[in-house]
Amino acid sequence: MTEEDTPDEFTTTVHYDEDADVSPLESKTVAVLGYGSQGHAHALNLHESGIDVVVGLRESSSSRSAAEAEGLRVETPREAAAEADLVSVLVPDTVQPRVYEEIRDVMEAGDTLQFAHGFNIHYGQIEPSDDVNVTMVAPKSPGHLVRRNYENGEGTPGLLAVYQDSTGEAHDIGLAYAKAIGCTRAGVVETTFREETETDLFGEQAVLCGGVTSLVKQGYETLVDAGYSPEMAYFECLNELKLIVDLMYEGGLGEMWHSVSDTAEFGGLTRGDRIVDEHARENMEQVLEEVQDGTFAREWITENQAGRPSYKQLKHREENHEIEEVGENLRALFSWGEGADQEKEAAET
Ligand code: NAD
Ligand code: MG
Ligand code: MG
Ligand code: MG
Ligand code: MG
Repeated sequence: MTEEDTPDEFTTTVHYDEDADVSPLESKTVAVLGYGSQGHAHALNLHESGIDVVVGLRESSSSRSAAEAEGLRVETPREAAAEADLVSVLVPDTVQPRVYEEIRDVMEAGDTLQFAHGFNIHYGQIEPSDDVNVTMVAPKSPGHLVRRNYENGEGTPGLLAVYQDSTGEAHDIGLAYAKAIGCTRAGVVETTFREETETDLFGEQAVLCGGVTSLVKQGYETLVDAGYSPEMAYFECLNELKLIVDLMYEGGLGEMWHSVSDTAEFGGLTRGDRIVDEHARENMEQVLEEVQDGTFAREWITENQAGRPSYKQLKHREENHEIEEVGENLRALFSWGEGADQEKEAAET
């Protein structure tokens, strides 16, 4: 961002490298539990920022050798937590309550328990004792980008929240961690566990994952049912979405409207609200209410306890939608996919 287009005022506090200090972590040991998407990125970035890191993984974990090959120390989650002053919980959200049970009695007064998503704290699935700090540092991107950006000297925007401050230092410790993984290079926004959890769930349900896939499938089905070819329907309703989203990502809705034809702009402006109408808005409000009152959380927790029967069924139905087969065939014919990008990258380097 250039100076000119940096907004003078945010509705919330944003921290950059110059307002953050890693020294609150300098004499401390950080345990990173899990070595998946976020775990590997946090562990490696912290390590390269000079922080003492120990990775916590089960004896049977296939990630052990990967972490060790990068020069990281690996212990069991319980051993790592016992040794650490800050425990960063980066195992899957559904597994966290179980892992917390393994480590709770080795957490000492004044230690920090940290998360990258607020679900388990906000919905009471983990209830830490009063004498530990409870913080959140949540990069707003998948782990491989958190890692790649750090390696390139760039940052990944992130969120910082303090749920419980037992030492009076929780905020500074969280900010130090955010700096050490590279987030303050891009900007770290202050939030709360409640706000992060509820907006994250609402966003993925109503817009990003749920809303968009339903829109794509219904658009596709409408064209195919009217006799148009599945290939044309796929291009128009799924493939071109990337081009539109790229424009919105770069310059908001305005950049997208500016870049499409005036016909597309007029058609979109006059028809969009008829598709996603007042009824959709009421459903969004309902979905938000279920997030806020804990209905969704209870449903997902019960679903996991029962071995995920509905999840498996819905996943199966989604995987078998005709659009998936059409897409697989088309992506094999044309060279715009991920595979093609990787080949291009490999050829360039
Ligand atoms: P992941 O599924 O990629 O990785 C989890 C890792 O946990 C596995 O690789 C494994 O090493 C380990 N693991 C699994 N079961 C375990 C067990 N029983 N005991 C010990 N270790 C176990 O998870 P992720 O996507 O990195 O998510 C971690 C946290 O980060 C979650 O709270 C998630 O909400 C949050 N988060 C994820 C993203 C993202 O884009 N992936 C972005 C922001 C925040
Ligand atoms: Mg300790
Ligand atoms: Mg989420
Ligand atoms: Mg078109
Ligand atoms: Mg135009």
